[in-house]
Amino acid sequence: MNAVPRHIVCLTFDFDTQSGFIARGMTTPTPLSRGEFGLTGARRILTLLRSHGIKATWFVPGFTIESHPAASEAVVANGHEIAHHSWAHIPPAQQSRDEEEADLVRANEAIARLTGRKARGYRSPSWDLSEHTIDLLLAHGFLYDSSLMGADYWPYRARRGDRAELGEPFRFGEETALVEMPISWSLDDYPHFEFVRTATTVLPGSQSARLVMESWFDEFRYMQKSVEWGVLTYTMHPYVIGRGYRMLAFEDLVRKLAAAGALFMTMEDAAKEARDRFLSPNAS
Ligand SMILES: [Zn+2]
Repeated sequence: MNAVPRHIVCLTFDFDTQSGFIARGMTTPTPLSRGEFGLTGARRILTLLRSHGIKATWFVPGFTIESHPAASEAVVANGHEIAHHSWAHIPPAQQSRDEEEADLVRANEAIARLTGRKARGYRSPSWDLSEHTIDLLLAHGFLYDSSLMGADYWPYRARRGDRAELGEPFRFGEETALVEMPISWSLDDYPHFEFVRTATTVLPGSQSARLVMESWFDEFRYMQKSVEWGVLTYTMHPYVIGRGYRMLAFEDLVRKLAAAGALFMTMEDAAKEARDRFLSPNAS
């Protein structure tokens, strides 16, 4: 095993535009415009990434590819990875197996038309997998998933058949070949920043961008302190992080990460490195 420390950072952008609002039935002009702002955010993010020479991973719903082709092509033209984020942004846990598979295939066809190849990576809308998702991803040739929270700096093998029943001990299912690139709501811009009001709840959001980025940098410092090799994944949405004061704080985070030795990689490359070093049957 390589003794030189490697501390990888994956910057990931869920390019939802209006899809998440439509999936929740919010189709009046204002929520739609909130998603539309993602087009502005995406342009700003592409400029920032280009100026720092960073390749990132964009989870782009088929909805966005077909609704906003020029914006989607710009992501590809900048050399970023395009990964799968469903077609209609409906959480798989709310779909039948057939519905989930049909949506998965439709989105993959849109990605193949956009990039010339199918997606290698998947992230579920709202981070809620169904009991079928892992099997479907394996059947459709995916390398990795990025929807689970069972680790922080270590990719692991996604399992099928975990059993959780009330009043019974938890039983682990079998590990599969699918590489899990773990995520966390704490490293997602949405709950920190977005104001959401529904009939029953208010999520205040609107936190200080500087304070959130400070916490995100501390997460990198702790990875450096605690593991020789690790991957830290940040999740952002162009319509969220794309606001001016957040972009300034985010760019400062990128600078600090680079100065501290972060290796910026696409998630596909990081997942391959994890698989080849640690997760293949022959890995030490
Ligand atoms: Zn999303």
